[in-house]
Amino acid sequence: MIGVITKASEQELVREFFELFKTPWEFYRNDRQYDVLLVSAGDAKFQRKGAKLVLIYSGEASIFNDVRESGPVSQCNRACTLYYRTNRLPIYGASVTFGKGANDLLIEEETHEPAIHLRQSEGQVCARIGYDLFSEMRTLLTSGQPVACAGIPTLELHIALLRELILASGLSVTEIPPVPDGYRFIACLTHDVDHPSIRRHKFDHTIAGFLFRAILGSVTKVIRRRMTWRHLLANWVAVFKLPFVHLGIAKDFWYDFDDYTKLETGVPSSYFVIPMRGYAGRKRQGTAPSRRAAGYAACDIAEKLQKLASAKCEIGLHGIDAWMESSKAIQELEHIRRITGKRAIGVRMHWLYFDEHSPSVLDQAGADYDSTAGYNETIGYQAGTCQVYKPLGVSHLLELPLHIMDTAMFFPGHLALSFAEARKRVTEIIANAVRFGGVVTVNWHDRSIAPERLWGEFYLHLLAELKKHGAWFATASDAVKWFRKRRLVTFEDGQEPNELCRKMAEQDGGNLPALCLRVHRGSEGARVATNENRRLHDRDFSAAASLNWS
Ligand SMILES: [Zn+2]
Repeated sequence: MIGVITKASEQELVREFFELFKTPWEFYRNDRQYDVLLVSAGDAKFQRKGAKLVLIYSGEASIFNDVRESGPVSQCNRACTLYYRTNRLPIYGASVTFGKGANDLLIEEETHEPAIHLRQSEGQVCARIGYDLFSEMRTLLTSGQPVACAGIPTLELHIALLRELILASGLSVTEIPPVPDGYRFIACLTHDVDHPSIRRHKFDHTIAGFLFRAILGSVTKVIRRRMTWRHLLANWVAVFKLPFVHLGIAKDFWYDFDDYTKLETGVPSSYFVIPMRGYAGRKRQGTAPSRRAAGYAACDIAEKLQKLASAKCEIGLHGIDAWMESSKAIQELEHIRRITGKRAIGVRMHWLYFDEHSPSVLDQAGADYDSTAGYNETIGYQAGTCQVYKPLGVSHLLELPLHIMDTAMFFPGHLALSFAEARKRVTEIIANAVRFGGVVTVNWHDRSIAPERLWGEFYLHLLAELKKHGAWFATASDAVKWFRKRRLVTFEDGQEPNELCRKMAEQDGGNLPALCLRVHRGSEGARVATNENRRLHDRDFSAAASLNWS
């Protein structure tokens, strides 16, 4: 059991941190003894007694007698990057580095000074970590990471470092990892439905963009070897057919967005659909660009949506104003409920409109989850995590972060990747999912498999990779349900693993995979690693014992 000493203002962050690192913990109590003390506020001098490991997180020098205990300390008051072994770990708030007790577990990128001070005395190990864990977490869960750090699963690295420190001190770690039993991670395939019909567009920017990209853009892409001749031909044929599509003679090639069910062959996906036609929505100041207005409303394609729902797909809200005003969110959710007949509806905002108030706005409107936390211009981890998390200040809503979006990878104004480059980028994200568990959320837009994008082959490659690496494919709502089930398990002091397994089994039922219990054995009597004792750090923690109880 970890005892946590923190400021009252950080309690919500601590609770959420230990939903993500699901291991036994509680707020420090005077009448308890703890193996591990995690301190982020106050002077833990008196409480340290009895604990085998004391972890002190703070980005402020002078607190916790740094100078006396660790020699000269350098304070840094701007964002910086640390190296946690070979992983870049961005720190967004203040940090300190230490002069004495050098080790290379955690070092500052520019100065190469250690940002952790490890020390052992009288049977107690003390790790002084030079940043504030919970204020870092606040930044990640509220403003999120800048685009430059998008590729780094920062929050997962904070968890990995904490776990490693506990194990290296010789203690064991019991945890319920974010990994469904029998799989390595979760994959959520989602589709934002922005243009489910080309016939609905006459002489607007959508048609102009389509013609330009299909006729000229395709040629440029073939020259730059980003498109095959076969696809160029397919695009030109589509352009030729367009007048006939409008006359109703040829098939509307954007209306086949439900072809995804064929590509996905039996695995479920989630479609986010726009509630109203021709309305661009608002920004906090002023109106959104007119291009944001959709050419359809969910009710226009209700029949198709009901067919998808009967094929075990999920229909969610692709919101317009739901992100900024609860009354609007209620109305928009109602449009989707009328079509699906379901009460619990998830949301992703069109163009990813969102701000720090949006989680509360959607929560108050009764949305089940949101999946907007992601980037328009790149792929990766906006909140630094692979896991479904609870945004601060909400009561029910959970956030399913968005990791991979087609337009972010392929649009010329964004990453403009070739398929080979994009393969490399998604491989990194899948590797992180295998390493940390959690979820890979993919957004492939409705018309991305049709002319003129023709990104279906890449999508098939991505599906094959997710399958190959052991993904459990779930709708967004099932992925969120699985994380809710994990959140329901609570730990008690002195609880035996068997008892815990019984409690976990109580959450089973339905079609969701079971939870796992993972026990990492620490090496008894081992010292916290220093340069002389690297062996400890080289252990492969993922190879630790894993118990299943379903
Ligand atoms: Zn959209």
